[in-house]
Amino acid sequence: MEEKVKSELKKIFGFSQFRGNQEPIVDNLLSQKNTFVIMPTGAGKSLCYQLPAVVSDGTAIVISPLIALMKNQVDQLNAIGINAHFLNSTLNKSEATKVKNEVLSKKTKLLYVAPESLTKEENVTFLKSAHLSFVAIDEAHCISEWGHDFRPEYRKIKSIVAQIAPNLPIIALTATATPKVQQDIQRNLQMEEADLFKSSFNRTNLYYEVRPKLKNESKKQLIKFIKSHKGKSGIIYCLSRKKVEEIAQLLQVNQINAAPYHAGLESAVRIKNQDDFLNEELDVIVATIAFGMGIDKPDVRYVIHYDVPKSLEGYYQETGRAGRDGLEGHCLMFYKYEDIVKLDKFNKDKPVTERENARVLLQEMAAYAETGVCRRKFILNYFGETFEKDCGYCDNCKRDREIFEGMTYIQTALEAALQTNERFGLEHLVKVIIGEPTEYVTSYKHDQLPVFGKGKEVPEKYWTSIIRQAMIFDLLEKDIESFGVLKLTPKGKEFIEAPYSVNLYKDHDYATEDPSSTPD
Ligand code: ADP
Ligand code: ZN
Repeated sequence: MEEKVKSELKKIFGFSQFRGNQEPIVDNLLSQKNTFVIMPTGAGKSLCYQLPAVVSDGTAIVISPLIALMKNQVDQLNAIGINAHFLNSTLNKSEATKVKNEVLSKKTKLLYVAPESLTKEENVTFLKSAHLSFVAIDEAHCISEWGHDFRPEYRKIKSIVAQIAPNLPIIALTATATPKVQQDIQRNLQMEEADLFKSSFNRTNLYYEVRPKLKNESKKQLIKFIKSHKGKSGIIYCLSRKKVEEIAQLLQVNQINAAPYHAGLESAVRIKNQDDFLNEELDVIVATIAFGMGIDKPDVRYVIHYDVPKSLEGYYQETGRAGRDGLEGHCLMFYKYEDIVKLDKFNKDKPVTERENARVLLQEMAAYAETGVCRRKFILNYFGETFEKDCGYCDNCKRDREIFEGMTYIQTALEAALQTNERFGLEHLVKVIIGEPTEYVTSYKHDQLPVFGKGKEVPEKYWTSIIRQAMIFDLLEKDIESFGVLKLTPKGKEFIEAPYSVNLYKDHDYATEDPSSTPD
């Protein structure tokens, strides 16, 4: 089998070698074992199920959330001679019947299915009679409501698959999963025992930078930045269609070869703009987040977020579209806190828990933007990776930062967590430390703890930053069982026993910072 796999890799996909974890993943799945893959965008997830599908008997079901992308992927597979089809709501009855007959005749190697279609009774009946090889769940983070792209119908996948064929191996894949989301996915799919293949999220060739977003000034900086990258490909993300139009126009009148992309454009225009960008007719695409999923342009030299994204997960996926060829990629974000407030307001009609989850994601985003810590360290910590040294390749690493001695602050932060029995989140701990007797604080009698008010000389905002840095230093960690709860790590417990000197970084204060001082 191994030989066959290697030769098909070359023969069908044209690759002479596996990349990263691909080989052990493929082996694992082909040994009929449940497999969980976390790999950054562009690392080559598709091959992890496409190749096993080709060499296995029967049809692999691929569950994918984006109908728009299914056709693309199926076309690409067909183009290299693989028999693949999709089943979703865009097919009429006779087209769907045709697809089903192909599958039943055992010709189809991959069948892409939208989660909505999977749950339909008639399709369940049909799939029961098909000869299947395994199930691949793409964009598996959609299962978790703690993540940024929750799809309720994704939570039904497991029970449907169990009806269709209870012993079918499952491979779940995602480019984004915090430890909490990862656990949620595994539980929901009953894949706690699955073999986990997690690649590092570190993209060493990407440079991270945040600049304050100031009226007019930021537009000037945007134009200057793009002009200094003349002839190079770049993506500018904005939050609304209106803003996309406005920025695209601004660039055009400044003689920049740019065009807009958003779901409100006529499809012919949208497709043309996308193709022009892919074919180098266009340098810059100004887009909503609708752009980029499934697009594989290797030489995007910069990704600019003109508006702050809704989560660090989203941000990381979008910036991940820069420098896929391994060469330079500059990730620049314009930030102001008012944008966070605005985004939070958009959620005001959502159910309370949904809004609260979205708010936590937004606060993480704001914390990233405002941190003085190495950006790479911050991001990787967020995704559950420890990155010891400063990267030297982000704006924070490149600037002269204000450092302060943090030993006693960290002690206080850890004491607050300990004295509240490691059962509370960041916000609550800060309230206790600054001595704010909120209803919640008093109801737990936390106003009677020795640590209550111990840090009242220091503003609230600083404490938030200090506690976050304690997390980045691996002294505190989020409890995976309960959302947001902070616990001491073994390293944190050692620190309490024998405290040592720690350098902490002051957060940015963009209101007073000179925007032209950002290192270029
Ligand atoms: P992801 O789904 O992880 O974002 P893709 O599956 O789209 O990534 O793959 C990204 C790119 O890497 C594609 O252009 C793909 O052809 C290429 N690729 C995948 N595996 C290999 C490999 N083993 N060798 C060379 N290129 C590969
Ligand atoms: Zn850095």
